[in-house]
Amino acid sequence: MKGAGSPADEGDMDNLPGKILRVAVVGGGPSGTAAAIRLAREGRKRKIPVEVLLFEGKDFDVHYNQCVGVLSPPIESILLDKLGIDLPLSIFKRHIRGYRLHAGGKEILLVGESRLGPTFAVRRVHFDAFMLRRAEEAGVKVYRSRVSDLDFLKEGRRREVLVFSEAGTFVVDFVVGAFGLDEGSMALFERATGRYRRPSRYMTTYITKIHVERGFIEKRLGDIIYAFLYPDREGKFEFGAITPKGDHIIVNAAGKRVSVEDFLSFLDMPEVRDHLPPVSIPLSQIFKGKFPSSPARGVTGPSYLVVGDGTGFLRPLKGKGITTGVLTGIYCADAILDHVEKGTPLSAYEVRCRELVRDYFYGTIVKTAARVGDAGGFLGSLIELAKVERELYEALFNAVSGQETFRKIVRENLRLKTAASLVKLWRREREKG
Ligand SMILES: Cc1cc2nc3c(=O)[nH]c(=O)nc-3n(C[C@H](O)[C@H](O)[C@H](O)COP(=O)(O)OP(=O)(O)OC[C@H]3O[C@@H](n4cnc5c(N)ncnc54)[C@H](O)[C@@H]3O)c2cc1C
Repeated sequence: MKGAGSPADEGDMDNLPGKILRVAVVGGGPSGTAAAIRLAREGRKRKIPVEVLLFEGKDFDVHYNQCVGVLSPPIESILLDKLGIDLPLSIFKRHIRGYRLHAGGKEILLVGESRLGPTFAVRRVHFDAFMLRRAEEAGVKVYRSRVSDLDFLKEGRRREVLVFSEAGTFVVDFVVGAFGLDEGSMALFERATGRYRRPSRYMTTYITKIHVERGFIEKRLGDIIYAFLYPDREGKFEFGAITPKGDHIIVNAAGKRVSVEDFLSFLDMPEVRDHLPPVSIPLSQIFKGKFPSSPARGVTGPSYLVVGDGTGFLRPLKGKGITTGVLTGIYCADAILDHVEKGTPLSAYEVRCRELVRDYFYGTIVKTAARVGDAGGFLGSLIELAKVERELYEALFNAVSGQETFRKIVRENLRLKTAASLVKLWRREREKG
């Protein structure tokens, strides 16, 4: 018998159904590699013969996925417990120990107990290349090519899927869409599935990398991320950040409708400049990307599931996109295996993702409150109050570091008493002028 998933023009497709579970993963970022590794490992554990094909169009020696490279907790334990991956020391560029939050004209240093584990800065291409290698080692067949189209067959015992790629045509039982926010792939999935609908809202983000002299980071930044909430007067940017890496700094800022000129103005703000070396940044060193800011629809359907950024399940403000991507990949793999083994519907995947979706809604409430607070001049008072109120300090630390879900922060840390103190302080500050 030809191997499952062999190019269709070489293989006898009739031999394949029912023998080996064949899954194609479109995209080799954090969500795709996590899904592929989990499928391969768990399949073996559960004695389900599974063949996983992963398609990645980028060569991570040359291309990259845009990112600051901050790995948020509990990434370490998820990778170890669910995928058997122990991140090597060489991948870490810095252990992030805290945040200096600037908001409403005030600032506060946030450090605290990393209940879910540490935060690390890594080089994203190294992380992606590492995960892809681990996928190959787990037995995943990695194709360095793009998937160009899909056809979902409606006839037959199983609803097979034809995967058209630059490496040939493959026949599989399930397709996992781990394509991030790739416009072409989102359009392809919308058309081919007739059901998936990409996130309808995005935030534009600009990012630049600044190489610094040895010692600059240690002297001026330390192991701290400088975070800016609604940094500009016009309220165009939702947030910005300066992140220290190994020998360079990454600066990024994101907002709904922002331009490169807005980003240059952000870089020129005194509180941002204060943390940067006195260098001018060539325009060619500024990159543009986007974050999803609303959930996608139809993330599962007959024979397909979408994971990672394509689901739009990202937490507002502190996105944790890599951690979320890895989690959705794992949930997706488990849903496929449960479906095959126990007949559980594939939509069980969406039930597993419910916590992420719920946090999106709580996060939106927090974000709206922060925006209103910024417009009403509350944010500065909030920062001042957090310096003396432990619960509020913890809430801010947990929100900015991504240590807790927004749901937990809202329910456990924010009390009426705090709101009353905040209003009192705000009034006092206004009276002082
Ligand atoms: C500027 C910026 C900074 C960020 N910083 C951070 C950060 O510090 N920490 C963090 O946790 N998150 C960060 N994020 C978010 C994070 O990058 C994403 O949430 C995460 O990468 C999502 O993973 P993914 O696997 O869904 O998609 P991606 O990482 O985008 O991977 C998708 C992959 O699919 C491949 N692909 C797409 N279509 C096809 C196709 N048709 N055929 C074959 N391959 C295909 C692409 O080449 C790509 O490699 C940042 C995002 C941006 C834009």
